[in-house]
Amino acid sequence: MDSIQEFMDNCNSDNTSLTANTNTSSNNSLVATSSTSSASTTTSSRYENQKRRDWNTFGQYLKNHRPPLSLSRCSGAHVLEFLRYLDQFGKTKVHTPICPFYGHPNPPAPCPCPLRQAWGSLDALIGRLRAAFEENGGKPEANPFGARAVRLYLREVRDLQSKARGISYEKKKRKRPPQPQSMTLPQMPPPGAT
Ligand SMILES: [Zn+2]
Repeated sequence: MDSIQEFMDNCNSDNTSLTANTNTSSNNSLVATSSTSSASTTTSSRYENQKRRDWNTFGQYLKNHRPPLSLSRCSGAHVLEFLRYLDQFGKTKVHTPICPFYGHPNPPAPCPCPLRQAWGSLDALIGRLRAAFEENGGKPEANPFGARAVRLYLREVRDLQSKARGISYEKKKRKRPPQPQSMTLPQMPPPGAT
């Protein structure tokens, strides 16, 4: 028994906080915990919550699917089906080529064109579901959200919506801050110039 205890002590010998905490005040553990807690937890929690909600939504979709569909049998084609299903809840007007407002970012009047999910929302959604799939034990190579068909579909939606709405979805370049007004003001004549 002694030898086992000795072995354990040796294993823990470099873990000084373990013995320190039992004998002294909790000062050591305080330092230890504060160093491990990360400041990024609060900033990422919104994303994490959204991801969890999206994952639950997709789970619900699978549950209600006819014929029944399990996650393990879910393919890129099913993900596309899911994305098209979401379009009915979309709030983004996507003009058809025959609409007079085709290519107008801000149409002056209503039109009967359909509402869809905006490309940016779908793109972000797929990113979250893709991460959630692997966090829930899915294999990266079997990730239906990373399927080629899904990538192609998103690209197609992006091109279609950018044409229909006249909005460029290219990655935004960092804009230069506008020149301060004072720089462009005409020079005042020096006092007493006239
Ligand atoms: Zn329209």
